[in-house]
Amino acid sequence: MGKSYRSELVGAFGCPIDENPTGVMEEAAFQAKGLDYRYLTIKVNEGDLEDAMKAVRAFNMRGINLTIPHKVEVLRYLDELSEAAELIGAVNMVVNQDGKLWGENTDGKGFLTSLREEGITVEGKAATVLGAGGAARAISVECALAGAAKVNIANRDAERGTELAGLINERTDADASFLPWDTKLKVPADTDILINATSVGLYPNVNYKPDVDYDTIKPEMTVSDVIFNDPHTLFLWEAARRGAKTINGLGMLVNQGALNFTLWTGVEAPVDVMTQTLKNEFGLK
Ligand code: NDP
Repeated sequence: MGKSYRSELVGAFGCPIDENPTGVMEEAAFQAKGLDYRYLTIKVNEGDLEDAMKAVRAFNMRGINLTIPHKVEVLRYLDELSEAAELIGAVNMVVNQDGKLWGENTDGKGFLTSLREEGITVEGKAATVLGAGGAARAISVECALAGAAKVNIANRDAERGTELAGLINERTDADASFLPWDTKLKVPADTDILINATSVGLYPNVNYKPDVDYDTIKPEMTVSDVIFNDPHTLFLWEAARRGAKTINGLGMLVNQGALNFTLWTGVEAPVDVMTQTLKNEFGLK
């Protein structure tokens, strides 16, 4: 008696979800730390999230990741939110605290960690973010909360972009501006960190790049991409050609996964194992 045959359950709800590699990375991490956890990659169609969240409680799952299209809708099924998730207005991970569901957004924090790993901090800097969707909101808000002096938001849809810039101006100490993006975008000359947080370049559209005047990228800039599949994006290739330091989307993916691991298990994440697992998955050295 005493031996438990029950695994702790976590996972992801999304649609599409089949090509999401997070489970491989989290399972490798659980194994490395000797934890009896299972990560389930679960297809939940739009309209079915309420039932799926009831299942999180019914199955006593430790938590869940949310991806497209559930990151915003999930808010109405949660008991509590972190400050950042409330500001961002989206949740990518939930922790089940004895039946109370707490939502957090680790996308932007994972992004900031991936910058720090490369010796880059955002305090006092000017960030220019391409996009105003979920990833862009998380990154912009976390840059502002981490002390960025300026956050420029460039987005095709002006309403979305203006709303995000307004939120940052109202709720943080950073100075935010909206940059209309209806023609080739000129990167503001005072940009320290340029981030592609659009979905342009995502597999299978690997031959596409954001519509940017790449000659406005300077060697002093750090240029980063959220796209991790394939991580060698044309956007980063163009930036590297202009002498900029480049950071791909794998670091963000690993680091948000590492934060999720720790929030669920209370154990420090084996970041090296997680990084190597993802690299193997993508056939990278
Ligand atoms: P959303 O659908 O919420 O937002 C997409 C954004 O991309 C919008 O701002 C949209 O602009 C913009 N966009 C789409 N097509 C174009 C285009 N042709 N030209 C200019 N802008 C365009 O998606 P998410 O924010 O959730 O995800 C964005 C990307 O981030 C995805 O590829 C996802 O895989 C990646 N991601 C990576 C993570 C990581 O860990 N590395 C974590 C989370 C996401 P508009 O508003 O004008 O339509």
